Amino acid sequence: MSIAQTLDVASLGKLQKDFRGQLILPGDRQYDSSRVVWNAIADRHPALIARCTRVEDVIAAVRFAREHDLVIAVRGGGHSVAGFSTCDGGVVIDLSGMRAVTVDPARRIARVEGGALLEQLDRAAQEYGLACPVGVVGHTGVAGLTLGGGMGRLQRKHGYTIDNLLSVDVVTADGALEHVSDDDDPELFWGMRGAGANFGIATAFEFRLHPVGPNVTTAVVVFPIDRARDAAALYRDLSRSAPDYMHLALNFATAPGGRAATPGPRGNATVAVGAVHFGDSKDAERDLRRLHDQIEPLTETVRATTYLALQKMSDDEMAWGKRFYMKGAFLDDPSDTLADRAAEQVAVAPGECSIGLWAQGGATANVAADAMAFTGRGAAHWVGAEVFWVEKEQDRDHIAWGRAAMLALKPHTTAGNYVNDIVEQGDDIVRAIYGDRKYERLRALKRAHDPDNVFRMNQNVRP
Ligand SMILES: Cc1cc2nc3c(=O)[nH]c(=O)nc-3n(C[C@H](O)[C@H](O)[C@H](O)COP(=O)(O)OP(=O)(O)OC[C@H]3O[C@@H](n4cnc5c(N)ncnc54)[C@H](O)[C@@H]3O)c2cc1C
Repeated sequence: MSIAQTLDVASLGKLQKDFRGQLILPGDRQYDSSRVVWNAIADRHPALIARCTRVEDVIAAVRFAREHDLVIAVRGGGHSVAGFSTCDGGVVIDLSGMRAVTVDPARRIARVEGGALLEQLDRAAQEYGLACPVGVVGHTGVAGLTLGGGMGRLQRKHGYTIDNLLSVDVVTADGALEHVSDDDDPELFWGMRGAGANFGIATAFEFRLHPVGPNVTTAVVVFPIDRARDAAALYRDLSRSAPDYMHLALNFATAPGGRAATPGPRGNATVAVGAVHFGDSKDAERDLRRLHDQIEPLTETVRATTYLALQKMSDDEMAWGKRFYMKGAFLDDPSDTLADRAAEQVAVAPGECSIGLWAQGGATANVAADAMAFTGRGAAHWVGAEVFWVEKEQDRDHIAWGRAAMLALKPHTTAGNYVNDIVEQGDDIVRAIYGDRKYERLRALKRAHDPDNVFRMNQNVRP
């Protein structure tokens, strides 16, 4: 469906007058490159891409879409795994022209526009030796990550991204601009921190920053997959005893490129325990010793690096253009049985896949479970299955693997899911993400702020 079929030229001309950004239509030279999002599965054809450069553009685009009864998809960094930031036949309100980051080093606060990427926030804050806890891939959008929660390497030390969010400027469903914070609208601020995509378009965020780096130490020890229990025992012990300034991960994975390169039923799948040390560098050797005391690992690496380099370390591996599925959950006990199940699932994966755990606790556990819409901080660990592939014909096998892998781990998981890593949709799914009580509270908020469900390209809380 082309825009010409759905809109009269006069109304588009009127939008053009108010709009300082770019309006991109089917047939325009830039249309195909502009409609691409990170997950290649989401190959959609919007009727209009409104690339905004200022708040007034966002307001004009929301009003225009509503007047013409067009679906709105909001795009920050374009990394929605479910493809929520694009749509067929509607308007993509694209904030990639709004990426300014300003840091106030004295107050340790960053103001970040709604289309900024993590790497921009990281870079601007590190100019002053500061950082906000965000995710682990630099090209992810700050907006989608924050509105869902924001997990990453600093979470045990400084909490999730939402735990450091001070305020959000939001364009609401009726095209108004609101400043939302604990002082200005505490109930909406509660909902924005975990279910934020439902309530409006965030044009700017304010974050609390912390002194971080610039130098950090990482350690990784890799075992063949047959030693899954050894790796789980090490990870378990570390997550109970390591200081909160250490990030800890356990990762079951096929080799890069997927299927086994060496013969044998389990090919060259591996299991690794990783840590990042954000404490005083003079304590790094002591704190990371357990990782390099292991008997006959495949490899063992301790590396001094910078926070900025670490934050971009996975950018190429997670580059745009591949097809991707993931599913996450929370759990309390990374037991031997869980390690066996994860190793079995990785061994039968159809391609490049992994099952990863991140330790929570620390600062994430210092905030009350009901303080925000986000659900899952009470669990000791996060777990997620991820799989990449290239050919459309392989969608079914790869998605089926991801679902089966998480089904196999389900007996070990606790309640709640991280909204940003669930692709499946429906009322029951959304209710399971937040739990019954929070779901009902979110519905009341949705009825108050977006009764017509204008913002529905998300894990949708229906009014
Ligand atoms: C490679 C990769 C790495 C990741 N790593 C991490 C990680 O380390 N930690 C973590 O917690 N998560 C991680 N994620 C998940 C990530 O947080 C989500 O995919 C997030 O939604 C991406 O945000 P975005 O702005 O890039 O996405 P988009 O696709 O632009 O948007 C995602 C959702 O947010 C909404 N949205 C976007 N911008 C705005 C806005 N300004 N106002 C209102 N709504 C908006 C969209 O409508 C959509 O529903 C990762 C995802 C990928 C693909």
